[in-house]
Amino acid sequence: MEGTSDKLATFIDLSGPDLTDEEVEAVLSVLRTRHLSLGPKLAEFEEVVAGYVGRRHGVAVNSGTSALHLAVRALGIGEGEEVITTPFSFIASSNCLLYERAVPRFVDIDPLTFNIDCDQVETALTERTKALLAVDVFGLPADWDHLRRIADTHGLRLIDDSCEALGASRKVDGRGWAMAGSFGDAGTFAFYPNKQITTGEGGMVVTDDGDVAELCRSMRNQGRDSGAEWLRHARLGYNYRLSDINCALGIAQMSRIDQILAARRRVAGWYEEMLRDIEGVVAPAEAPDTRRSWFVYVVRLAMCQSWQDLDEVVRRLRGRGIGCSNYFYPIHLQPFYREMFGYEEGDFPVTESTSKQTLALPFHNRLSRQSVARVVDALRTTLDELDLGA
Ligand SMILES: *Cc1c(COP(=O)(O)O)cnc(C)c1O
Repeated sequence: MEGTSDKLATFIDLSGPDLTDEEVEAVLSVLRTRHLSLGPKLAEFEEVVAGYVGRRHGVAVNSGTSALHLAVRALGIGEGEEVITTPFSFIASSNCLLYERAVPRFVDIDPLTFNIDCDQVETALTERTKALLAVDVFGLPADWDHLRRIADTHGLRLIDDSCEALGASRKVDGRGWAMAGSFGDAGTFAFYPNKQITTGEGGMVVTDDGDVAELCRSMRNQGRDSGAEWLRHARLGYNYRLSDINCALGIAQMSRIDQILAARRRVAGWYEEMLRDIEGVVAPAEAPDTRRSWFVYVVRLAMCQSWQDLDEVVRRLRGRGIGCSNYFYPIHLQPFYREMFGYEEGDFPVTESTSKQTLALPFHNRLSRQSVARVVDALRTTLDELDLGA
């Protein structure tokens, strides 16, 4: 299809799953057993992921959002307590606090890494601050040494929303290279189809704390204690279980995680190479002592000054058959956050100026070099048309 006119060429999706025949077979083999839920694949998947990130315990759940919610509850964060977090993220990293009537206290981001600006965290502390919840945005680990120091100094809990960062790592004090998800008192992963690995839907809490793990295990299963009667509920719980069907897919995906991450790195490399000579397009940043795990490929359009500009780029690129999206719109400006907390434009200027420029391009394991070239061509043409290219 390459070389045909834009209209005739196939649409290049923003993301897409990469499933092998073995993975399809792994799912089918669970369907042939009697253990569709709470069976052996659940425990195996938890062990595989926890082992991979270097944590003692994994508790699989039905989404990354559920994992965040359980982490918040298990760490005892409750009504009126404040949690310092970032407004430049997927909304779940902040909504999980609202579920417990805790209060997100946003802190602006670093303009290069897009992660929470640790230098501003301490000024946001109050007597009610209970925890820090940082996000490894676009697969780049936050500055966990700095966050850990602040948490320890002030007696705060620390949550790692590593839902975008399975396989990322960072050098941290006393541990050397360590995996995303392993930096907080609890870490969380998500396995929606656009993530590094998928279970269709799914998520996981990882922790070294046996009590936190037990609480999460109970709460995902309607508050049952392990080994208890089916209709005995020791505490308020939820149905956040992940079926063995999903877990089998996750196990199979984890068995080739290195290959998956390498494929993604290769696609990112093509983008970097081809985007180099487009004026006004800034490739994702690197940070010292940090290895990104590629989740999405987000470029910064340096000449874009408004969400309207960016929306127009998205509209035209889609018209050219290129799936793309503006990642992220600031959480504090979502309508219900404005209503609940009175946030306005200008409250977090770096987050806002960043979100007017950040564009996610098609990105998945199987994207071809030719498709990347087509995306880059379409981007160049679009920016030229809109005078956003130089
Ligand atoms: C994907 C994601 C989640 C969780 O997503 P689910 O769709 O609930 O699995 C949470 N936080 C961040 C930053 C994410 O990108």
